[in-house]
Amino acid sequence: MKIRKKILTLFLCTTLAFSFSSCQVQKTTTEAVTKTTAKTTKEEVAEKTTKEETTTAEVTTTTAVKVVEDYAASKVNEQGHVMVVMYHGIMDNPPYHRTKEQFLKDLQYMYDHNYRLISLEEYLSGHITVEGGMTPILLTFDDGLDTTFALKKTADGFDVDENTAIGILEGFLKEHPDFGRHSVLYFHDQTKNFGEVGTDKDRFDWLLEHGYEFGNHTATHDNLGKLSKENVIKEVGRVEKYVRSLYPNMKLTTITYPFGARPNEAYRDAAVKGEYDGVKYDYVVGFREGPSGPFVPVTHNKFQPFNAPRVRGSDGANGDLWWYFDYYEKNPSLKYVSDGNPNTLVVPEKRANTINDYAKENFEVITY
Ligand SMILES: [Zn+2]
Repeated sequence: MKIRKKILTLFLCTTLAFSFSSCQVQKTTTEAVTKTTAKTTKEEVAEKTTKEETTTAEVTTTTAVKVVEDYAASKVNEQGHVMVVMYHGIMDNPPYHRTKEQFLKDLQYMYDHNYRLISLEEYLSGHITVEGGMTPILLTFDDGLDTTFALKKTADGFDVDENTAIGILEGFLKEHPDFGRHSVLYFHDQTKNFGEVGTDKDRFDWLLEHGYEFGNHTATHDNLGKLSKENVIKEVGRVEKYVRSLYPNMKLTTITYPFGARPNEAYRDAAVKGEYDGVKYDYVVGFREGPSGPFVPVTHNKFQPFNAPRVRGSDGANGDLWWYFDYYEKNPSLKYVSDGNPNTLVVPEKRANTINDYAKENFEVITY
């Protein structure tokens, strides 16, 4: 229930990228709402969802979302897998980095095979807004590199450096505006995250204004599996403190464990909930490095919030991105395929037993 409440709160913060102060207001409201009846909560969600759709439409200026009505013909399966891809920077250094050509090849494959980018908020709430028939995919970028994102100076301020991953993605979106402008950037606490052009605030402001989201990748990229509890708290808390120094109302919601390594089991929770130097952190999902389990969505009873899998953005080895592309071409029934309505959970009858309590409480479940 605790997770459910937190995820619900996150969903209501879907305007996070546009207004952090309003998110705080919404959070307070939601906490009050969740203490009342379930019915009221659902009504609140429906109301906020409408708002969220309006916001998305305004920002992406795409056409109205296509909703599928013949579920069987479109093979709708909203309990299917949602891949989370782990990228780093743009350089010729496989398997953790991609060249520009390789990254464009990845994006083109995704687009041509009906994958559409979703936000972290959508992933965490399960209320996914891709068109009917499409498969959601979440891109993440670790390490705060200047080849992941950097600014360049222009006559009237700053713009994205088109040779960085985000610059390449932005270029791709000009040609394919319906792909979805979303990605999550995970970084450390030192200044000079994402290069040296502009200030940290300039760089983060640009990303927020363009719809990107942030997460914690620890202060120094140490291996959490080898640290004391005290040092785990310090590694995680320093990033939260850094973010709070730039945006007093911002609270990160997820962590990517460096090397995919979680802390010692005895104090594993310290990586996702704690307090450092007066700053609290409380995360709802921790991502591993590699496919630590099936890519099930948050509505699935096998979803493990602090063991959430990611696939390495590479074509190098079994279990990497291009291995999974092939795997889902051979096993299309395992993929998440949307009906186009973020408030319904449309599931083939034979997968109905995978629907968890969070889904039952927050979606109109339809089996066929
Ligand atoms: Zn890393």
